[in-house]
Amino acid sequence: MARIELSELAHSYKPGASRPGDFALKPMTLTWRQGGAYALLGPSGCGKTTLLNIISGLLIPSHGRVAFDGRDVTRLPTEQRNIAQVFQFPVVYDTMTVYENLAFPLRNRGMDGTAVDGRVREIAALLELTPALERKARGLTADAKQKISLGRGLVRPDVAAILFDEPLTVIDPQLKWELRSKLKALHRQLDVTMIYVTHDQTEALTFADTVVVMHDGRVVQAGRPDELFETPAHTFVGYFIGSPGMNVVPATVSGNQARVAGETIALPLSYEIPAGKRIEIGVRPEFATLAPAGEGLPVSVERIDDLGRARLARLRLGGHAFAASVPDGLGEIAETAGLIIQPGHIHVYADGERLSGRA
Ligand code: ADP
Ligand code: MG
Repeated sequence: MARIELSELAHSYKPGASRPGDFALKPMTLTWRQGGAYALLGPSGCGKTTLLNIISGLLIPSHGRVAFDGRDVTRLPTEQRNIAQVFQFPVVYDTMTVYENLAFPLRNRGMDGTAVDGRVREIAALLELTPALERKARGLTADAKQKISLGRGLVRPDVAAILFDEPLTVIDPQLKWELRSKLKALHRQLDVTMIYVTHDQTEALTFADTVVVMHDGRVVQAGRPDELFETPAHTFVGYFIGSPGMNVVPATVSGNQARVAGETIALPLSYEIPAGKRIEIGVRPEFATLAPAGEGLPVSVERIDDLGRARLARLRLGGHAFAASVPDGLGEIAETAGLIIQPGHIHVYADGERLSGRA
């Protein structure tokens, strides 16, 4: 069990790199607390696997430091870090039985036979592998093999952390749900730090108590799911979390007023705007509602999407696409309408980064 600290960590796969574009990970300083359930969320290629492999010791970072409970492990191999890692594709010994596969990491560490047996059976039961314990791994389905991999990751009771790199990719959707709930239950039971890598926001938000969002080699925000929803620290978090994501439109902001597409929007806070940066405002569709023409900002209605439990209006505000909620009982929707934005939910961004306003 460990608190994991990354200090000024950065990584380039190119030796002697100096341009920011050469870095798969841009400088980051971040602490993962002991016992946390973390999701590392971001699109393909943003650096998730690189970061995970640096934490596990499969990769030595070109810059910075990794510490477990204050001890520098930056250059220690995986075996000396006491980490379990589960990969996207099954890593199992085909010629061994399921039982032997699960027992292997324990026997390897010198655990005695009775303890091994108890632990193997406990993990097998949890993953519903008990009926297959005596079968060779070779003949099993991809799902079952990946469950063995998960089991091998979870079986050691003494690990500092368990790292999962998109572990449910090959698992069918129904089982995916079940396994994710099991991982979550196991996390509660084990009090171990877990880091779960995914590009899927639903997976991240349901598994984790802290979601770390990565974009282009950077950690752009780490927070609880509700924080990422309410207060995206970066426009990327706004887009990437939520469906549809946050509306982001170019604006000019001065004090407590924003101008968008020739219209003025009053802001609840006052902003000091840095010179020479791209200024945008961000509003989630959940906090913007369609209204009759003449109320709020003038918009044109492109279409209405029926989402079952709610309706979503696809609008144009000046030249910009904008999504808003359709309140119940609005009545007939004409081509021109109004848009009402809840003032407390407007964020101001400079070059993508959220500015904090002053009351
Ligand atoms: P993710 O897991 O988020 O998809 P990766 O960490 O695998 O992202 O990759 C981040 C960046 O580093 C990508 O641009 C990728 O092409 C590059 N990269 C990954 N592994 C290597 C490698 N072994 N050598 C060179 N470049 C790599
Ligand atoms: Mg990856």
